[in-house]
Amino acid sequence: MDNYSRMKELVELLNKYASLYYEQDAPVVSDAEYDALYDELRRLEESEGYSLKNSPTHRVGGAPQKKFEQTKHLLRLYSLDKCQSIEEFYDWCARTEKTISPLPTLTAEYKFDGLTLNLLYDNGKLVQATTRGDGVTGEIVTAQVRTISKLPKEIKYKGRIEIQGEGIMRLSAFDKYNLTATEPLKNARNGVAGAIRNLNPAVTAERNLSFFAYNIGYSDKTFATQKDIREFLIEQGFETEGDFSVVNSKEEIEDYINRAEKARGGLDYLIDGLVFKVDNLSFRDELGYTEKFPKWAIAYKFKADERTTTLEDVVWQVSRSAKLNPLAILDPVDIGGVTVKRATLNNYGDILRKNVKIGDRVFIRRSNDVIPEIMGVAETYEHSKIIEKPTVCPACGAPVQEVGAFLYCTGEHCAPQVISMLDHFTSKDAMDIEGFSEKTAEQFYNEIELRSVVDLMNLKAKDMFGLEGFGDKKISNLLASIDKSKHTTTDRFLYALGIDGIGKKTAKDLIKRFRTLKSLQDATFEELSQVDGIGGILANNIVEYFADESNKKIISDLIQSGVVIEEIQEVDGVFKGMKFVLTGSLPTLKRGEATAIIEQNGGEVASSVSKAVNIVLAGEDAGSKLEKAKKLGIKIISENEFKAMLE
Ligand code: NAD
Repeated sequence: MDNYSRMKELVELLNKYASLYYEQDAPVVSDAEYDALYDELRRLEESEGYSLKNSPTHRVGGAPQKKFEQTKHLLRLYSLDKCQSIEEFYDWCARTEKTISPLPTLTAEYKFDGLTLNLLYDNGKLVQATTRGDGVTGEIVTAQVRTISKLPKEIKYKGRIEIQGEGIMRLSAFDKYNLTATEPLKNARNGVAGAIRNLNPAVTAERNLSFFAYNIGYSDKTFATQKDIREFLIEQGFETEGDFSVVNSKEEIEDYINRAEKARGGLDYLIDGLVFKVDNLSFRDELGYTEKFPKWAIAYKFKADERTTTLEDVVWQVSRSAKLNPLAILDPVDIGGVTVKRATLNNYGDILRKNVKIGDRVFIRRSNDVIPEIMGVAETYEHSKIIEKPTVCPACGAPVQEVGAFLYCTGEHCAPQVISMLDHFTSKDAMDIEGFSEKTAEQFYNEIELRSVVDLMNLKAKDMFGLEGFGDKKISNLLASIDKSKHTTTDRFLYALGIDGIGKKTAKDLIKRFRTLKSLQDATFEELSQVDGIGGILANNIVEYFADESNKKIISDLIQSGVVIEEIQEVDGVFKGMKFVLTGSLPTLKRGEATAIIEQNGGEVASSVSKAVNIVLAGEDAGSKLEKAKKLGIKIISENEFKAMLE
């Protein structure tokens, strides 16, 4: 195909995708796939020296939709130039330096992945909210935006001013919404775009959106720097979020990028990159704009974590808690440098709600350590096949029971269930039985009819005689490890029980609050839900687990087998009853060291700032946690002050 024909084809395809994405909030390809086609078009336009009239490279966003009232922005809104590597970023620095040398100070911030919004305040009141639209004209969505509870409807500043930022659906709000939604959202970006660009504000309100401010458009007031803008936004009561830093050297830039890449997986909102901006606003006019983006800013895009691929098959796996989990077999796809062949479909209820079929092209998301997940259907076809609900367990053939969204194997000693439970029970963070692996579990299950964790704790030497690979030494070592494991702590024991949703950290948090297994067993749903990080579903799981007679028997049989649970002693100390949050990097103490000191002195460390926190221990480059602490009036101390408290 000649270059002209390919350009024509790309323009048509990209325009179709852009219209589905910007105008209908219903993308059929991932951003990474769109960007790859867009980059190909850009390269062709550069090499050919011309572009087609309707090329997306000349345009910002999509056309405003007729169903909304429309208005012109007081100042134009733009897209952002982008780079995908540090080399490309330094190329941009070199281009900028041709106009302003030496390279001016830059600011660095997160690139939030939501929907651009432009808010007009006049006389201190929010008078209008619009989408970016095509950059010149936006759609009026004031009523929808008003449902964002934390968005200030009134501000102190009384002039006329446009506040720009991103409408965001926090991931916690997204997960909560999807848990019960009849039509789950494919990602949080679509979640916010679809919620704001609909005509019914009640629908917007249900999604529990946020707004993160980062810019000022038209304003009666003048600002000198991006940093001033940020401070002004915070003063006026806007949520800003993210690590905002002023960077002056290559070292500071690379440090910032590393820090942000690490922080990304732990954030409660999507970011698809970072934005670097020239801090001094007077330089911005000198640098100017293209028809699509300002030359004084650039987006540093992260590797994509979402792609589309074909769902080839679904197999059902039995978990340690007897649940049948659907595992998706995919046409292998590269996501951010990793080949993904399998993904989770969560549970049977999820398959129904997402209406996924074998043969469909589906959206896959892979973020950090989390198992890749199928988020929804990109395209379905006539030849796609319904995913059948298994009626018997694929491992043991016992009938399947359906409870809510889940399917359970009703078999008594279903092999994969027993083996994965044994593997979990003996693992390092649980009972820590050295020399026992998943392979051993399989061998014992098949050859000596070991059927439960209680059987394991009551194992005798004679049971293992004659087993392949089990000489006298190995037998006595294993028995010694089992014996040693019987002296354990309450949180380890709780984690070892393998209750759905109780990981190491949750087990620790629960025991910190309830101290003994007995009081945890007696805890009510209400008491459990009050523990940091325990939601309604988990609280319910815990109550149900301890109410079940067979589980009660497992616990008493384990104690009977000689398990002794050491109870945690209440620590007295200078920090008794105090809750800390750590943020930024401290001059000498590592995070783990500071946490240990706090805990050894009776205090507690929480992961996020809330009114329940007493002290924030802040180091250099402290980000949003510090800002939140200031807003809530929480005491903030340095490492030196922390050490002084210990004396
Ligand atoms: P962009 O998203 O790459 O960058 C511009 C936007 O970044 C601004 O409008 C602003 O809202 C936002 N932003 C977030 N944080 C910011 C901050 N701290 N400071 C300044 N701005 C900030 O550009 P775009 O033109 O909006 O859209 C292009 C993107 O949309 C691409 O990533 C593309 O993949 C995606 N897209 C996807 C499809 C699809 O079908 N999947 C179709 C069209 C476009």
